[in-house]
Amino acid sequence: MTRTPTGATQLAGVIGWPVRHSRSPDIHNAAYEALGLDWVYVALPVPPGEVPAALRGMRALGIEGLSVTMPHKGAVAAEVDALTADAAALGAVNSVRRDGDRLIGDNTDGGGFVDSLVEAGVDPSGRRCVVLGAGGAARAVVRSLATAGAAQVTVVNRDPGRAATAAALAGAVGAVGSASDLGTADLLVQATPVGMGDDATLAADPDLLPAGAVVADLVYHPLVTPLLDAARTRGLTTVDGLGMLVHQAARQLRAWTGCDAPIDVMRAAATG
Ligand code: NAP
Repeated sequence: MTRTPTGATQLAGVIGWPVRHSRSPDIHNAAYEALGLDWVYVALPVPPGEVPAALRGMRALGIEGLSVTMPHKGAVAAEVDALTADAAALGAVNSVRRDGDRLIGDNTDGGGFVDSLVEAGVDPSGRRCVVLGAGGAARAVVRSLATAGAAQVTVVNRDPGRAATAAALAGAVGAVGSASDLGTADLLVQATPVGMGDDATLAADPDLLPAGAVVADLVYHPLVTPLLDAARTRGLTTVDGLGMLVHQAARQLRAWTGCDAPIDVMRAAATG
C-alpha cells in the first residue's frame, strides 16, 4: 500500500542533472514503505550552477536527506558545512544529511561497494586488487578497498595522470599499473562504462587472471556484462554492480532515518 503524504511526512530526494531516469526514488520509497516510515523521496532536477540555491532550499524546507548524482558531487562537497573523512578525501559528496541547520556531506559509494563484496562472501582484506578506471566511482572504490585492508590496489586507466591521482587515495598500498598486473590480481574491479548497455566490448581478459580470482563490475545495466559473462565461463566468482547501487543507498537510509535498511526490498525495487 502506498502512503498518502501528510503534514508530518519527512522529505528526502536526489539532486542531479538530468535525474528523471534515477532508480533512487524507487529504491528509497520501497524501503520507507517496508519500514512503515512516513517519508517520501523525490527526484529533484537541479541545473549546473544551482547547487548553492538547492542546498539553501534543503535547509529552508527542512529536507532530511539528499542523494547527489552527476554532475553535482564536487559542487556539493564545496558547499556543505562539514564533510565525512571519505567525502573530504574524494572531494565528492553523494549524500547530504541535515543536522538542524548544518548540512553534512558523505560519500557512501566506496563503502557501498565493499558492503556488496561482503554480501557476496568476498572479504577484500589482504587481497591484491586491480581497479580498471580512475573516475569518480573508481576513486571511491580505491579508497574503500585500502580502508578495508587490501594488500595492494593497482589502478589501470587510459589517462595515467588520473590513474596516479586515484592510486594516491589508497596510500601506501596504491600503485599505477597496466593490464599485465592482472596476472597476480585476486580481485579485479571494472569501474569504467565499458560493457554498458549494448556495448559488447570486453573490458579486460579474465583469462589473464589467476584461478580463484574474483571479478566485480560496477556496471549494472546489463547485470551480466561481457566481462562478468567471460569470467563466469572461466569459473571465476563474480559480483555485479547492483549490490553497490543498493548498498550505497542503504548507507544513506541508515544515516538519515536511523533505521536498518531492508536490503532485499531495496534490491527488488532497483530491478523492478
Ligand atoms: P567517470 O567519472 O566518467 O569515469 C570514467 C572512467 O572510465 C575514466 O577513468 C575513463 O578513463 C574510463 N573510461 C571511459 N571510457 C573508457 C573506455 N572506452 N575504455 C577505457 N576506459 C574508459 O565515470 P564514473 O562515475 O566513475 O562511472 C564509471 C562506471 O561505473 C559507469 O559505468 C557507472 O555507471 C558505474 N557506476 C556504478 C555504480 C553502482 O552503484 N554500481 C556507481 C557509480 C558508477 P579516462 O580517465 O582515461 O578518461
